Amino acid sequence: MSDEAGVPDEGDVVTYERRGRVAIVTLNRPDYRNAQNSVMTYALDAAFERAVEDPEVGVIVLAGNGKHFSAGHDIGTPGRDHHVRYPNKATLWWDHVDKVGGDQRFARELEVYLGMCRRWREIPKPTIAMVQGACIAGGLMLAWVCDLIVASDDAFFSDPVVRMGIPGVEYFAHPWVMGPRAAKEFLFTGDRFGAAQAKEWGMVNRVVPRAELEDETLALAEKIATMPQFGLALTKKAVNQAEDQMGMRTGMDSVFGLHHFAHAHNAEVGADSLGGMNAKTMKATASTAPAEQNGTT
Ligand code: ZN
Repeated sequence: MSDEAGVPDEGDVVTYERRGRVAIVTLNRPDYRNAQNSVMTYALDAAFERAVEDPEVGVIVLAGNGKHFSAGHDIGTPGRDHHVRYPNKATLWWDHVDKVGGDQRFARELEVYLGMCRRWREIPKPTIAMVQGACIAGGLMLAWVCDLIVASDDAFFSDPVVRMGIPGVEYFAHPWVMGPRAAKEFLFTGDRFGAAQAKEWGMVNRVVPRAELEDETLALAEKIATMPQFGLALTKKAVNQAEDQMGMRTGMDSVFGLHHFAHAHNAEVGADSLGGMNAKTMKATASTAPAEQNGTT
């Protein structure tokens, strides 16, 4: 019933399905708006690895079960497992569990947040995020690492992490995926923005009615899957390299330092590294009331 340190066993927190040449990897904590705990992160990684290794899979679709894609990193469900040790997959770094202070935070976030996102961005097969409902903070990170984003008309996006006194989420892609000026408005207000606005910024590829989200996304995936696999892999690498030459990778590295400076400042002057914010207080202070928000770090 319960595993290490009292974390409840929720069963399959990520599910895997193959339809034709498309693998559908689905976040499966709908009761918690697909808040991402570590067990989900590593289950997601295993599912991606399975799709990469399966020669029948041409394209990977990342979905969220339930009303919402993902409300962010888990900072308040019974399954929160930030204190549990999982073998590192993205980095060669010591584990965070027996460390304290900045040493602990840096080790964990480098591996579980920034490192894993970078690893997934480099999956050699095209990935499509299929987004409905909330796509908040850590949810943005998952959508952004995918090559394409198809959003339903009820999708909404926000990064309210500035409310914690922290300059956005760990995978700081904002200026590159929506442009610097939109990124500032997005971050400065913490507001949620709808799918149409996200499309206008160039952050999502397509906006479709909620009822057609799955069909439209799978049709796009199937179409891409008819292209030669190696050609797709090289093309993906080419565009990712171009994005990095536009400064994304080094920019993220420098912002990761600011992010951790902010965590450390919070811990030095206040109650904790999140500026005293948890899922509840984040919700209560949100000016535009992202009612379904579950919180982030
Ligand atoms: Zn953080």
